[in-house]
Amino acid sequence: MSASGKLPDSAAVEAALKEAGARLTINLAAIADNWRTLSALAAPAQCAAVVKANAYGLGMEKVAPALWKAGARTFFVAHLKEARDLRAVLPEAVIYALNGLAPGTAPLFAADGLRPVLGSMPEIAEWSDFCRDGGADLPAAIHVDTGMQRLGLSPEEATGLSEVPGTLAFTPSLLMSHLACADTPGHALTERQRDLFAEIVARFPGVTASLANSAGTLTGAPFRFDLVRPGIALYGGAAISGAPPLKDVARLDARIIQVRACPAGETVGYGAAERVTRPSRLAVVSLGYADGFFRAAGSSDARKGAGAMVAGRRCPLVGRVSMDLCTLDITDLPEGTVARGDFATFLGDGITVDALAEKAGTIGYEVLTALGRRHARQYVGE
Ligand SMILES: *Cc1c(COP(=O)(O)O)cnc(C)c1O
Repeated sequence: MSASGKLPDSAAVEAALKEAGARLTINLAAIADNWRTLSALAAPAQCAAVVKANAYGLGMEKVAPALWKAGARTFFVAHLKEARDLRAVLPEAVIYALNGLAPGTAPLFAADGLRPVLGSMPEIAEWSDFCRDGGADLPAAIHVDTGMQRLGLSPEEATGLSEVPGTLAFTPSLLMSHLACADTPGHALTERQRDLFAEIVARFPGVTASLANSAGTLTGAPFRFDLVRPGIALYGGAAISGAPPLKDVARLDARIIQVRACPAGETVGYGAAERVTRPSRLAVVSLGYADGFFRAAGSSDARKGAGAMVAGRRCPLVGRVSMDLCTLDITDLPEGTVARGDFATFLGDGITVDALAEKAGTIGYEVLTALGRRHARQYVGE
């Protein structure tokens, strides 16, 4: 970042690519295409965009304007800080903060035209008091819990609220709930949540209703209500387990620092966790767990780990992932195809975030959000 808060120009990006151990390439056109695909699918429901956690680690400052250009007008983040950062890049967007109203923050929401997602009666009371005191009816969402036991009013509280009209000094702009199991097709809880939400929605006539995350959006029209809230599907993650993702968005290339010969019978890396059984060639790569590349994706004699594409071929990790390094077995590539300074591709070229996640025992969401700030970032498709 330059002092002006703008992202570096292309010369600075070039320099950063030279200096860094790995580069993360984010395809903004693919994100925009994914949003358009979901938006067309969801119609007549509106399609919002979830850009919390720095747009799932991919850089909200670049991602949100790309989504706006594609047509998104309503955005969801988690925190007030994220909402304010988003307001700085999207002056006209409707912005909701999912984690709600922290005590005393109503004036900050109001100052930037931000909308809290009110998830408990005390939050509703505080927002309502603030509106009454200021004589302004400021929009906010009401979150109702339909079976996740996380955020949101109980259905009884929501019903109570609907039965005493006039208790609120503001007009709710959105009524929402969140699905716990939409990524598991056919889960009974998903149907139950939908039916319960529909009952509550009927008690708040005229209020925009929203239930579906990415998986809910893809599951079908009965889950879409008035507004859908996809996140992961915009960013190349598989929203429904087993289903292919929309377009891949993130590509991670890490530099090969050296190529070395390893005699048969030697062990590689910390803990001597994996032994090579043949005379091998190894590529030592500038990528480790401090880069957000999971240690759990490493390899051992007991359990094979993740891999990377090198010169068009998938090469497996050998041994543990350390803080700044990992090692690939490139023995199966013809000698001389790989040189110091070449790159190995850990995401992209057919390796999806979900495939990497599976190797690390986690989910695509965690792979993306863990990518961190250490890589040189390059945005394409602007
Ligand atoms: C994160 C989040 C979403 C987006 O979920 P995806 O599974 O990434 O599509 C939608 N709604 C709420 C309340 C969320 O917290």
